[in-house]
Amino acid sequence: MAGSIVLFGPPGAGKGTQAGKISEITGKPQVSTGDMLRSAVAEGTQLGHEAKTFMDAGLLVPDSIIIGLISERLRNDDASNGVLFDGFPRTIHQAEALEEIVSVTSVISIEVPDESIIERIVGRRMDPETGEIYHIKFKPPPEEISLRVIQRRDDTEETVRSRLTAYHEQTAPLADWYSEKGLLVRIDGDMPIEEVGKSIASKL
Ligand code: AMP
Repeated sequence: MAGSIVLFGPPGAGKGTQAGKISEITGKPQVSTGDMLRSAVAEGTQLGHEAKTFMDAGLLVPDSIIIGLISERLRNDDASNGVLFDGFPRTIHQAEALEEIVSVTSVISIEVPDESIIERIVGRRMDPETGEIYHIKFKPPPEEISLRVIQRRDDTEETVRSRLTAYHEQTAPLADWYSEKGLLVRIDGDMPIEEVGKSIASKL
């Protein structure tokens, strides 16, 4: 399998928003464990039931569940030229498991300070028909769809604080881990979406 890219950063850093553009540029499909888990919850599968309690509490879903999900996803034909991971890996254990199955050629770390994250996430909304992400202050949805946008159930301030704690304790150490391997590319994510996009594109 050709090289895969990891999009790394705290919740609300803009990984999902930037992933679409990077996918377009590189032709690599976006693989988002958060999206896969939300689909499993919506479909009411066994895996969805197991994951939901953790997600609602802002905690990481156990590594064994995530690694199983990813291994299965990477068997799809569209993954044969590498993929763009969004929100995975989130622990050193996940990164070690990933090393066994694919070659990661670059880790794009979108860096945003905690103070900006809470405001970003709590105002975040999604159009359920297109999956497009908006923000009530920074990127308001057009009037015609403003009634149908929804808020993710784990985008409340209390849950965001738990997700940030999980990030700092379990995920942030991965930055050093990848940096030691010479794979980490740091991007200032505390800028307008377009600027962050340009900065990433210049590093691809
Ligand atoms: P996200 O959409 O990436 O912010 O993920 C939403 C939630 O799904 C997280 O708060 C976790 O509960 C769970 N999740 C997503 N990806 C992972 C992962 N790689 N490892 C553990 N939990 C995950």
